Amino acid sequence: MEKVIQNIDVKTIREAFPILHQQVNGKPLIYFDNAATNQKPISVIQSINDYYSRDNANIHRGNHSLADRSTANFEETRSAIQQFIKAKEADEIIFTSGTTESINLVASTYGRATINKGDEIIISGMEHHSNIVPWQLLCEEKGAILKVIPVTEIGEIDFDQFRELLSTKTKIVSIVYASNSLGSINPIKAIIEEAHQFGAVVLIDGAQASAHLEIDVVSLDCDFFALSAHKMYGPTGVGILYGKRDLLEAMPPYKGGGEMIKEVSFIKTTYNDIPYKFEAGTPNIADVIAFKKAIEFINDIGKEAIAHHENELLVYATEKIKQIDRVKIIGEAKEKVSVLSFVIDGIHHFDIGQMMDAKGIAVRTGHHCTQPLMHQFGIEGTVRASFSIYNTKAEIDEMIVSLEKIITIL
Ligand code: PLP
Repeated sequence: MEKVIQNIDVKTIREAFPILHQQVNGKPLIYFDNAATNQKPISVIQSINDYYSRDNANIHRGNHSLADRSTANFEETRSAIQQFIKAKEADEIIFTSGTTESINLVASTYGRATINKGDEIIISGMEHHSNIVPWQLLCEEKGAILKVIPVTEIGEIDFDQFRELLSTKTKIVSIVYASNSLGSINPIKAIIEEAHQFGAVVLIDGAQASAHLEIDVVSLDCDFFALSAHKMYGPTGVGILYGKRDLLEAMPPYKGGGEMIKEVSFIKTTYNDIPYKFEAGTPNIADVIAFKKAIEFINDIGKEAIAHHENELLVYATEKIKQIDRVKIIGEAKEKVSVLSFVIDGIHHFDIGQMMDAKGIAVRTGHHCTQPLMHQFGIEGTVRASFSIYNTKAEIDEMIVSLEKIITIL
């Protein structure tokens, strides 16, 4: 029997987002740049305000009430994330500044400690630069080899080619769960299973997946998982790295400083237990605490309902845009998150973006930090409209009208 998903009340949800209720260039804002960062509900904004007006104190080392309160709230977010991604233990959650830092952390600690000359690291052709460059740096340093899974014409990874690339030389597979440029959802469970057969560890870049798809790191059996709060209705500058306990314990520290130590002397320093071993210095306390509110926001609506609504918008927008002459969609994978990338024959994507902005419509244009992918499609960039829980079909209609006008003018 098919599951019934509750219709969500978008009007009420929109009321929770103050930023949406403004005019841009004389028109009501239509925000379709959610894959870059999505907007924040009032509960998240209020939490940051509350922290600085009521609780501000440095965490973990204080012995006064404000420090205790801040520490408890900070650690509550860790537990909320543990439940959100279904990790076994809260200690397996490390706070970082976001997905980029999480991937760099793994490359510079696990990577540096384990990769040797001639070893191979596999990524895919649809990776964000943040899941390419850290591995290139590591390969340069160690004399290792970076291999790339090809992407098909419709924007799916070529699974047979992936199998061909795997060997006992493969030490790390680092792959995006959902592409920020194409929307494609990758078959990560199958990828993890295949990679594990060769003894490779797998890092999942969950930046675009975590606001829409159920994440269960134990059932996926991924070794590392990275995400960013700001793509999940949370603040910028906060993210997490999940890692399996045994891996994190064996890894050398990332940054040196306060909090990551047990004992410091000029002869020898010993390191703290996980997760603190990887959390040197004063963290982004207010934003970590507010991240919990973002998780509660997602949980209250339910990921399934969010995904259902966004998918309806994606299907609707895709059908409408296909009817416009000269438009070509880039990325037509069978499984997609709500990202619609396209080009219009003869019109530069920047011009389209600017003209849409004049109508109050915020879309992203450019290479979306996936230059190798753009090269594969023989383009410099796309226009990308990405939809979130607060978007509506009426807003998509406005975008379509605006695109039709642009085509008649240019
Ligand atoms: N990976 C993907 C798929 C992304 O979409 C992004 C951001 O756009 C990143 C990684 C980097 O995330 P952050 O800039 O939050 O570190």
